[in-house]
Amino acid sequence: MAEFDVDSLFRSLDTDRANVVWKWKLLEELKQAGLRSGDPRVDQALTWTLANTGTPFEPGQPEWLDLDHFRTVVREPVIRRALQDQLAVPASEFAELSRGVERIYADLLDDRSGEVAQYIPTLRDADPDRFGIAICTADGQVFQVGDAEAGFSVQSTSKPFTYAMALEQSGPEEVHRWVGQEQSGGTFNDPRLSLDAAGKPQNPMINAGAIATLALVEPGQDVSERFAKVERIWTRMMGEAPGFDHRTFLAERDTGHGNRGLASLMAAQEMLNVDPADRDAPQKAAEIYFAVCSLEVDARRLAAAGATLAGGGVAPYSGERVFSPETAGRVLSVMGHSGMYNDSGAFADQVGLPSKSGVSGNVMMVVPQKRMAVVVFSPRLDEVGNSVRGVETCRRLVNDFGLHPYKRLGADRETARLALGGVAPARNAGPAGHHNAAASTAPSVVKAEGLQL
Ligand code: GLU
Repeated sequence: MAEFDVDSLFRSLDTDRANVVWKWKLLEELKQAGLRSGDPRVDQALTWTLANTGTPFEPGQPEWLDLDHFRTVVREPVIRRALQDQLAVPASEFAELSRGVERIYADLLDDRSGEVAQYIPTLRDADPDRFGIAICTADGQVFQVGDAEAGFSVQSTSKPFTYAMALEQSGPEEVHRWVGQEQSGGTFNDPRLSLDAAGKPQNPMINAGAIATLALVEPGQDVSERFAKVERIWTRMMGEAPGFDHRTFLAERDTGHGNRGLASLMAAQEMLNVDPADRDAPQKAAEIYFAVCSLEVDARRLAAAGATLAGGGVAPYSGERVFSPETAGRVLSVMGHSGMYNDSGAFADQVGLPSKSGVSGNVMMVVPQKRMAVVVFSPRLDEVGNSVRGVETCRRLVNDFGLHPYKRLGADRETARLALGGVAPARNAGPAGHHNAAASTAPSVVKAEGLQL
């Protein structure tokens, strides 16, 4: 890769030829690449530079950077990479995706089908019209539209992350002594405790499996310590602490007889990693599960957690490794087959990307090939408990951008065939015409295939 040429980059941004780069101009450029102005990395680099390098600042006048200040700012790796168009998703593609998301949002705004969850007051009373979408890449490029900063309890979308925490803490072999890796075929809260032949919950995406994996996170500690550990990991993924929805927690606890029952059943069969001498252990195992379901996030923050998985376990803003790539891969695999309740199989067919939904109306979809996550928040649910607009957003995004991993198979071959001149002769007069015709035909063929799902 060519050396990073700060001088010529500076000149290219100095459009007024005044030997300065306006701060707004730099921010605009970063925004094109997907770095928003509230991004802690951008804020920090600019605040530090403007405060410490003595940029003359006249109140009411636009701020600017001279070459020296500019050099300091581009020392921040994400800014440098953004200006070189080297982030997870190239700027032009990111802009196209953002427009696509905006279009889908506008199209679905009037879709009022479905019902909000009814089993606890906080969900029953949720504003059913809320609708927000956020995307976040492994480099922290963000686009959001609508109610992307409206809080909601994370609910079942905590499950993939709890599984990741258990894998990190205990390793896959130990984790899978307590929980399986297969589709359950039952409902997420199946009172029959979907057990496989070995007597364990079938996967970590159903309640029994989530309670079992949570019991493997800091198992020796008391409940508050264990919960603090879970909160810390969420904070590391998102770059911001989650909130806590107290009313949801109290209601989950009041109504969670089934979940307490699952914990007791598992403990009775020695399928829960708790102290057998502690008769309250199953209750505690259920309580911490209620608490984790009640963590409060919004679409923007949850997208950053999803981007941590998309980035192979590295948090998007801090660049800190939170999970190993193996852990991230395992989590995405189980999301791919069991993340969408009893629609998981059909969803895998139509969308084909690892996704997880929660009854508050959130859907988190990871797009591994773009190293990005998409989160939709819209409380109205379909009959299996997935957000109606959430599922539709995923389907459309995948269709519009050809993101289904198995449904464009052969498209590249077709492109190659056309590029080699294998276009139907009738449309191409002679050998001289072949090459150009191929070059202009190929992209539209790929696009069309992407749309034909
Ligand atoms: N707290 C819910 C329960 O355990 C989880 C709901 C969900 O699937 O999002 O019933």
